[in-house]
Amino acid sequence: MVQEVRTEKGEEDPYSNALAQLASVAQVIEIDPVYYEMLKTPRREIAVYLHMKMTDGSVKSFVGYRIQHNNARGPYKGGLRYHPMVSLSETRALAMLMTWKTALIDVPFGGAKGGITVDPAQLDEDELEELTRKYVDSIYYNIGPEVDVPAPDVGTNPQVMAWIMNEYSKMKGYNVPAVVTGKPVELGGSLGRKEATGRGVAIVAREALRAIRGRDIKGAKVAVQGFGNVGSNTVRFLMEMGAKVVAISDIGGGRYFPDGVPVSFEKLYSDFLASGTVGKLPYGTPIGNEELLESEVDVLVPAALENQITEANAHKIRAGIVVEGANGPTTPFADRVLERNGIVVIPDILANSGGVLVSYFEWVQNLEREQWELEEVNSKLEARMVKAFKDVHKMAQEKGVSHRLAALTLSVDRVVKAMKLSGWH
Ligand code: GLU
Repeated sequence: MVQEVRTEKGEEDPYSNALAQLASVAQVIEIDPVYYEMLKTPRREIAVYLHMKMTDGSVKSFVGYRIQHNNARGPYKGGLRYHPMVSLSETRALAMLMTWKTALIDVPFGGAKGGITVDPAQLDEDELEELTRKYVDSIYYNIGPEVDVPAPDVGTNPQVMAWIMNEYSKMKGYNVPAVVTGKPVELGGSLGRKEATGRGVAIVAREALRAIRGRDIKGAKVAVQGFGNVGSNTVRFLMEMGAKVVAISDIGGGRYFPDGVPVSFEKLYSDFLASGTVGKLPYGTPIGNEELLESEVDVLVPAALENQITEANAHKIRAGIVVEGANGPTTPFADRVLERNGIVVIPDILANSGGVLVSYFEWVQNLEREQWELEEVNSKLEARMVKAFKDVHKMAQEKGVSHRLAALTLSVDRVVKAMKLSGWH
């Protein structure tokens, strides 16, 4: 049974894994073969080569992608990733995940993803700006508020979104804030967008723990892998809810706190900024990445990159539930192992959908030339995340399937219905 989810390209090929997930939906609902065939591939793939004159006078070339998977429910939507491991397969997989994510949280968007294969830490600010503007110039005809709306992801931030908005607006001849979300608030970004993904992860962790294990998040032991925008904000809101965050990590190392983080989140975050990595924090015991993933906790939140829980370590996971802050942190193979061991996985398309949800709120505010209060954003986020969790949990119970399969089924069904109604065939 576990064997059938291995793909010929290996356990960690992201697109093969995305296809395996799509195929699994057939266990629950019948998908008309015409639509299944259409959903297996993106609608459009763009690869661009960006030639840069670097600050030191050398010339370098970078490859960038924008992959548009499906737009049956609305404009393509999804983040832009700057990372040395960005590849066609990864970007394709993440574009497909975005289609499911926007459908599940029920916003009128499709799914897309972009990326540039680059280590942003190796570029200076001017180079990063130039690279971003060249990327926008190259994909200009295929993005826009009604076409495809990028947003931040691993390695990008509100500043990068500001450059995207400005470059696109310059080419249009007028200001177009709705072309991108996750902008600085001063340029039409939504209040609460930056923290939205982490806030949503914490909300879903709280709901899942209560519904599945009958436990309160207050006092629950949590480990969080990754301390970027998603990981750090997840820690922040879980601490606010009274959870005991016993382990955190980033690429530079980890820290274990048997009684929970010994300082306030504000202090933790400023110490993190001062030392540059979790691995150099002046308190806690050092803990490795593997150890963190294998620690005995109520909730494990992988909030870094994909393929963290794999065939190699799935049998060693001892968490009660896994809440996926990152996209694709659990391979399909590992999924089966966890399921067999009674560990419930709350899938990425549900757990981290708070980000794209508030991106939707930002897009609406931009189109209406409005600015909502933070309380309004947060209460809408809370209500919709809780509803999405309940829908998925109900389906999982009714059909006797995993939360991932329930979430995928709900999403795929919504997308197929939109394709059918629009007459795609
Ligand atoms: N990059 C985020 C994600 O993977 C946010 C996407 C968006 O806001 O469009 O969900």
